[in-house]
Amino acid sequence: MAFAELGLAPRLLEAVTAAGFTHPTPVQREAIPLALQGHDLLVSSQTGSGKTAAFMLPCLHRLILAGPSRRPRVLVLTPTRELAQQVSSAALDLAGRRGPRVAVLVGGAPYAVQLKQLRGPLDIVVATPGRLMDHLQRGKLDLSGIDTLVLDEADRMLDMGFIDDIDAVVARLPAARQTLLFSATLDGVVGTLAARVTRAAQHIEIARTLQAPKIEQRLLFADGHDHKLRLLDHLLSDSTLRQAVVFTATKAGAEDLAGRLEDQGHAVQALHGDMTQGARNRALRALREGRARILVATDVAARGLDVPGISHVVNFDLPMQAEDYVHRIGRTGRAGRAGQAYTLAYLRERGKVKGIERFTGSTIPVATLPGLEPKARPERSEDARKTGAVKRRSNKPGESKAYGQYKAGNGVHRRSQSF
Ligand code: AMP
Repeated sequence: MAFAELGLAPRLLEAVTAAGFTHPTPVQREAIPLALQGHDLLVSSQTGSGKTAAFMLPCLHRLILAGPSRRPRVLVLTPTRELAQQVSSAALDLAGRRGPRVAVLVGGAPYAVQLKQLRGPLDIVVATPGRLMDHLQRGKLDLSGIDTLVLDEADRMLDMGFIDDIDAVVARLPAARQTLLFSATLDGVVGTLAARVTRAAQHIEIARTLQAPKIEQRLLFADGHDHKLRLLDHLLSDSTLRQAVVFTATKAGAEDLAGRLEDQGHAVQALHGDMTQGARNRALRALREGRARILVATDVAARGLDVPGISHVVNFDLPMQAEDYVHRIGRTGRAGRAGQAYTLAYLRERGKVKGIERFTGSTIPVATLPGLEPKARPERSEDARKTGAVKRRSNKPGESKAYGQYKAGNGVHRRSQSF
């Protein structure tokens, strides 16, 4: 199917071509025609599936048809500042010649700039729920003209405790509006929210595996923190590495590691929730402009990060939640490029790794780096057992390749690799 068959305005078709999109992704194929017909939508899709364009193109189409207005017509709520910036950039990129007037209202940024944006005419407001409520309570923003509400990464907004803010915002919107809700999952509390904010919504479920084939994943076991640092040094010395995001579990961990890498002469930036918005923007700009090769980040800060040069993701610490693994590795392999994702784990964390594998539905192949093999060996996994692999526990050097076989998610049997 071509973009031209989706029913979008010619100006938008020119813009998607200029953006280098040749064909709509599955979520775009499914969501755009239904959204153009005016349906409310509940869409389960992952980061990297092309979901931003899936909701932004119909929004832009409606704006073009409606013509100029003083009051904003589209409201997009996102969980994080970075995702809000990214949605705003996508709106400008996908709109073609005459871009929409977009205000980005996010926490941590100065009020003055935002208030100035709110004084002029606007088409689209992209906001995090907390800061949007601040502006609404101060009477600085009129949402009575909103005809499309988008909840992007709704599951994440709920995880972050934005439920009351979302309800308070929705209560101020016209009842006659279109609501497009995007979320990795539509179960549980997301389902309850969806039932409150949408009407006769159409459900679209996009398989989780879309992004996976482009990203090569490897699991490296480590004996301790120092071992992890040595593994990281090795990975970062790879000449095929253009840019990398290294994930840590904590803000302090991100600071420490960034400082250490900087001392070693790497061009590195940290990104975490304790930084001011200005410092975050500077870090992201350095990455986008190629002045930084490595970004050391925490989960929340890096959500939505879209930099095409990111060839590698390293999970220095395992994510707290299995779902975050998918978001993390989705920072690489952007826009059709290939990516590498390495996960460092202690043997005692095998249960957590299993949780991730259950969530993604595929096994992360175990690898070793020559000279950096763990002293303790992982036993073969349940999946490996099913394939009839030989159980090895030897600590002898030179046997690092012999972890046995595993069964990859696609059913292909491979041997764990040694680099
Ligand atoms: P998203 O899931 O919205 O974060 O998008 C992931 C990436 O895919 C972004 O870098 C988009 O620019 C890119 N993208 C979105 N739609 C398409 C498309 N139809 N063809 C190629 N790349 C796309």
